[in-house]
Amino acid sequence: MGVVGERLQPSLFERSRPGRGGGKIPHPPAGALDRLPAGARREQPPALPELNEPEVVRHYVNLSQLNYAVDTGFYPLGSCTMKFNPKLNEWAARLPGFATLHPLAPDEVAQGTLELLWELEGALAEIGGMRAVSLQPAAGAQGELTGILMIRAYHRDRGDTDRTDVLVPDSSHGTNPATATMAGFRTVTVPSARDGGVDVDAFRAALGPRTAAVMITNPSTLGLFEKRIGELLEAVHEAGALAYMDGANLNAILGRFKPGEAGFDVMHFNVHKTFSTPHGGGGPGAGPVGVGERLVPYLPEPRVLREPDGSFRLERAGERATSIGRLRSYAGNTGVLVRAYAYIRAHGASGLREVSDDAVLAANYLKHRLRDTYEMPYDRPCKHEFVASAATIKRRTGVRTLDIAKRLIDHGFHPPTIYFPLIVEEGMLIEPTETESLETLDAFAEALIEIAAEAERDPALVREAPHAAPVRRLDEATAARQPNLRWRPMAGDTMPCPD
Ligand SMILES: *Cc1c(COP(=O)(O)O)cnc(C)c1O
Repeated sequence: MGVVGERLQPSLFERSRPGRGGGKIPHPPAGALDRLPAGARREQPPALPELNEPEVVRHYVNLSQLNYAVDTGFYPLGSCTMKFNPKLNEWAARLPGFATLHPLAPDEVAQGTLELLWELEGALAEIGGMRAVSLQPAAGAQGELTGILMIRAYHRDRGDTDRTDVLVPDSSHGTNPATATMAGFRTVTVPSARDGGVDVDAFRAALGPRTAAVMITNPSTLGLFEKRIGELLEAVHEAGALAYMDGANLNAILGRFKPGEAGFDVMHFNVHKTFSTPHGGGGPGAGPVGVGERLVPYLPEPRVLREPDGSFRLERAGERATSIGRLRSYAGNTGVLVRAYAYIRAHGASGLREVSDDAVLAANYLKHRLRDTYEMPYDRPCKHEFVASAATIKRRTGVRTLDIAKRLIDHGFHPPTIYFPLIVEEGMLIEPTETESLETLDAFAEALIEIAAEAERDPALVREAPHAAPVRRLDEATAARQPNLRWRPMAGDTMPCPD
């Protein structure tokens, strides 16, 4: 990594020197502060650091060079679809007409944005085989909540109030059971079949008059397509329940499988995965939901409506009494939705199909390259991702999947998703996406093969990795449970305060 200067640099506060910065910012005219009401005034000046401009610029540029990103290297994080984000999308999202539109602008001056949102809803409905789409949810997880709340409203409207259970397979993403719980349901976990698929018979046995919904990810988080999906959904509907599809893996099936046509009643799209947008690290996403006929009345408000004269408007609050209401402010994360629209339009129908074909090809190629070195617990053709296991390597050498992931950093790669899905021992979920070259896939495969050889030769080298990163092993549990995100002066420090 081309880091200039110290690798872990002091914070701006620690670099601050009294009197060093900010001299060119004009002070307010005399008496200006007196015009502010006393209650709105600070008692103490803010404790801002004082630095000159080059120091500030270097601080941030050096920090940015510690980042690993899709724009700097391969990012095989399974389930996350870290594909290249076309710069065309960034251009589109920054067009002033989109980027500077006030969220409360009246509909008459927001026609272009409303039209784009309306068209995007139509495109997603077509892609998912759904009747209608709401763009409002801010992420896939919120799309799930939206979907399950709509299912709850549907059952309640029919007076069907004994349905307390949501069935999820044991390979599901943690957001599925979390969603069911947040919506007031009980999660019933159904074990997967030996071949990694949904165990249709176990599902049938678990279905009953208490089942409100099932949540299925297809292809599953093991990268496997559910062949018996039609049969399963028939059983779900026979039991009076509805079927939710977690659409996070849509990247594998564009133009090949439409969840709505297969019988799913509702699905979410992670547009920041399938249709690109920089994500991870907390960037905004969007999780539109698509619904079949039965759930259309319950869609969140406001919907984007097209009037008979061809103009567009947002639904007014309370206009549709059956709606589950608003899930977030305004019309959704519009900047992300503009990117999704640009991506879909730039590819067109045949281009989107090609995306999936290439993503599936890349994953199967990589799986093939690694099959002599790592176990492949589900040895059938995968979709856009696959699970490999280091269980045997661990038994032979003591080196675990976590160690291999850390050692990949030394080899210049971002690690794949590890220990997910939970049902695979020492699992790695690898998703190359369609945007990587053969050379990159080969280099990644060779790094993983080399690390397996290192584990045999010198297990400590792998167990103590990373050796070449700015930091070594971090206490990830504490970082996640008790994040410390704010700099505070150490006891005894004197904080510089500009006047
Ligand atoms: C990413 C993901 C989610 C959650 O989506 P977010 O947009 O991160 O909220 C749900 N299910 C699966 C399988 C996923 O990969």
